[in-house]
Amino acid sequence: MLIKDVSIIEAGRLQSGRDILIEEGRITSVGSDLGRNSNEEEIIDGRGKLAIPGLINGHTHLAMTLLRGYADDMELMPWLQEKIWPLEAKITEEDVFWGVKLGCLELIRFGITCYNDMYYFPDTAACATREMGLRAFLSGVVFDMKPELLGQVEPFIRRWKGDELIVPTVGPHAAYTCSEETLLKVKEIADRHDAMIHIHLSETREEVDGFLLSKGKSPVEYLDSLGLVNERLAAVHCVWLSPEDCHLLAQRKANVISCTESNLKLTSGIAPLNTMMQAGINVCLGTDGASSNNNLSLFEEMKTTAIAQKNAYHTPANFSAEQIWHMATENAARAFRLGLGLRPGALADLALIDLKKPWFWPQSNIISHLVYSMAGGVDTTIVAGKVLMQNGVIPGEEEILEKAQERFLRLTS
Ligand SMILES: [Zn+2]
Repeated sequence: MLIKDVSIIEAGRLQSGRDILIEEGRITSVGSDLGRNSNEEEIIDGRGKLAIPGLINGHTHLAMTLLRGYADDMELMPWLQEKIWPLEAKITEEDVFWGVKLGCLELIRFGITCYNDMYYFPDTAACATREMGLRAFLSGVVFDMKPELLGQVEPFIRRWKGDELIVPTVGPHAAYTCSEETLLKVKEIADRHDAMIHIHLSETREEVDGFLLSKGKSPVEYLDSLGLVNERLAAVHCVWLSPEDCHLLAQRKANVISCTESNLKLTSGIAPLNTMMQAGINVCLGTDGASSNNNLSLFEEMKTTAIAQKNAYHTPANFSAEQIWHMATENAARAFRLGLGLRPGALADLALIDLKKPWFWPQSNIISHLVYSMAGGVDTTIVAGKVLMQNGVIPGEEEILEKAQERFLRLTS
């Protein structure tokens, strides 16, 4: 495949007239006039478009797209206990299948080529994701309310290990919903398979106060005492970290996935990203589920993160568009150990954005426009060299929307 005459970002600036050659799922060359000696059959006209590396949404519960708009305007614990958990008790494999497909549509439309997810029926999520052609890090959810889930973790990993698109991980829900015994078992499985651990951590002040009272340790210190804090940890939220927690996470090379919009909507607070970054933690971004965000757009997440952080510290010069873009792209690729980027040898996961939109005009600082002004325009999304959306068209979209509506009506009836 050859993408001809496209713009790319080089050293923070827009460069037009580039060609991108893709062979067998990887980018093999980026330059000018690559088309001259190529006899590629599949050619995409890149004129007027910007190519960016595919984005990674670092934290989702994709099937929760079915619960979008179902329970707004609540705090985390009542939201979970009164609304989400009772409804999830009714969720079936078929619901998850169509919820994941609906989520994949949305990710594709936002230029996201990979997502990191924790939810029920991960095999079903994996099948639906493969059909949609996206890359994903998937885990089932583990918590003590449903003890049978723990036994499903390792068989799931064995089934999907080595898959081209799906990377199986381990997903203990949180330190406050899993016993010490459960967390130790989860760690053992993750170590055995060199798998990532995906966990909600220090999301609310109540969670942290509870641990300090009952264990004399913060949730981060507690997880570390069990051996779960290492470079394979994707610690989500981390809103209530002490400076000591930040240093510990940095020292262990753990990754933090910050979900500003979900934290703001559930009034959990604003994560201390400044302290985290100064400590040297690898921080990237996620949206959380569509029931607490309520969309899966990483562009929106970038903007909200930048402006919320500037206000939290009253440091308008910090959290620049460039810093946030770096978090959303390079930090995410590092956390998930994915070779992404517009360079030879990288995975051919990318998105093309139509620059002929008013919010990209006048053409000046492209990264500023992407972070602060972007309001749509992704028109082509490619994963592993396969086109999932071209000129805004995703095959099969209509059926997915209809099925998702049916599943929502069944769940809430
Ligand atoms: Zn979550």
